[in-house]
Amino acid sequence: MNNNNDMPINISSPLKAGGLVILGGGESGVGAAILAKQKGYAVFLSDGGLLHETYKKELADNNIEFEEGGHTEERILSADEIVKSPGIPEKNELVQKIRKKGIPVISEIELAYRYKGDSKIVAITGSNGKTTTTSLIYHIVKVAGLDAALVGNIGYSFAKQVAENPKPLYVAEISSFQLDDIKQFRPDIAVLLNITEDHLDRYDYKFENYINSKFRIIENQTNDDYFIYSLDDEVITKKLQTLKPNTNQLPFSMKQEVKKGGYIKGDQMMLRIQEERVSMSIYDFALKGKHNQYNTMAAGIAASTLDIRKEKIREAVKTFQGLEHRMEFVATVRGVDFYNDSKATNVNSTWYALESLEKPIILILGGVDKGNDYSLIEDLVKEKVKAIVCMGTDNKKIHGAFDQVVKTIVDTQNAKDAVDAAFHLGAKGDTVLLSPACASFDLFKNYSDRGNQFKEAVKEL
Ligand code: ADP
Repeated sequence: MNNNNDMPINISSPLKAGGLVILGGGESGVGAAILAKQKGYAVFLSDGGLLHETYKKELADNNIEFEEGGHTEERILSADEIVKSPGIPEKNELVQKIRKKGIPVISEIELAYRYKGDSKIVAITGSNGKTTTTSLIYHIVKVAGLDAALVGNIGYSFAKQVAENPKPLYVAEISSFQLDDIKQFRPDIAVLLNITEDHLDRYDYKFENYINSKFRIIENQTNDDYFIYSLDDEVITKKLQTLKPNTNQLPFSMKQEVKKGGYIKGDQMMLRIQEERVSMSIYDFALKGKHNQYNTMAAGIAASTLDIRKEKIREAVKTFQGLEHRMEFVATVRGVDFYNDSKATNVNSTWYALESLEKPIILILGGVDKGNDYSLIEDLVKEKVKAIVCMGTDNKKIHGAFDQVVKTIVDTQNAKDAVDAAFHLGAKGDTVLLSPACASFDLFKNYSDRGNQFKEAVKEL
């Protein structure tokens, strides 16, 4: 470990009386507690809900004081500094009291950053494609033989990794909520995939606030760092014109050639970063669909900036195994293909799913609508979808949007009925696609429960 790891950057002494309070005891909160304890802070973790047994054990094993099922306000409000978990919204009453008192609040990735020493960070954010791109970058890095860790929003605490198994390179999936409370966090390589309206309930229903939050990924970057972003995303390019950041910009595009960065022309992807230039046929990408071509370009550029050889990038892009619930091929039953894209919880994701498949498609849609504008997929539905199977408790909006567009729309209320109905409507050569454009909690625990029940039902056909 590098000596720098024990030298906090620009913070008050870790051993002050009020100490560090951590709000929220999930993966990131517990990870932050472990790192802070290791670095000598007086740590107290507080969660308004109940903690998972495994996390309680981890806290106990590390002699970390905690409370669950409520907050001891007095103790929290006497903290020197607070680490707030990304799930806790700003409008939370306790958070407002903390803000009023002026106690510094940071996120777990900021704490991890303080102690990561001179290790490098590749940080990936965007409205869609974060997990896919993060996993692909990690795969390329591993194929190239680099010593790296996969951390962040993907499900493994960055802080815990720094505490327990520090690495020279971190590949980190970063959500906007994690960026909201950064101070010095500075990735060596930042990737911004796209920005579409999402999570507006956490941003005062102002798209601009959400855009600003995403752009914080580059706010501390310097001209030693790289910023990889989509040149085809107008929200991003418009914002960049006003920001003019002091970092090395590496855009990617499917619409124009770029001198530095990456582009796709015809069926070839070209990457131009360092001396080495990479070209590769998009037909060799393991990940299919236009959205994944963007993700693959972004990952390829990130890998090139890490000086990974083109042979290794090519090999890794070819061999990457896609992720569960994201355009996951399930089975072919009597000539009908089934795809599970349960992770598509907004209309934008469903657009890309439809775009990537050949017609005719039977589309399973529905769930909890987060303010969907279905007109975005109307043209693709007209062109490719022969029937819609609604799977949700309230399908009025879907009927309103598509009754005049698609001949057959049926309603179902569970995965088995939806799969049976879709199969019944299908013929040899058709594709059944679960890409719901909605959240899942009206009928399921979460998107993976929904995807798993879908796959089970397909297996039972
Ligand atoms: P995230 O981690 O940002 O939620 P995932 O990689 O889990 O993203 O993908 C979520 C959904 O978004 C999937 O259904 C996938 O089909 C779709 N998707 C993936 N990449 C993109 C992209 N670059 N643009 C638009 N949609 C995408």
